[in-house]
Amino acid sequence: MFSKKPRQRSCIACRKLENWTDLVRTVLVGNEIKVDLKHRMGGRGAWLHADCFSVATERRSFNHSFKFEGEIKFDELEDYLKNLGN
Ligand SMILES: [Zn+2]
Repeated sequence: MFSKKPRQRSCIACRKLENWTDLVRTVLVGNEIKVDLKHRMGGRGAWLHADCFSVATERRSFNHSFKFEGEIKFDELEDYLKNLGN
């Protein structure tokens, strides 16, 4: 029987493989991180656990993932993660 496996992605911070439904997809637009809730935005995406955000910023994982040298703004992602806790 054909079993449908969920696709897996690795978290940019801790590198653990995870079902993509358990990770947050983000994309870089200009120098701002956008949260791609519907997984419809084009371009390269960076996936991470909601809990791994602080690790990701410490390690500059977003810069590495997007091969972006400048300063990245996380306002939208920070707001999104804040609201998750409610
Ligand atoms: Zn993680």
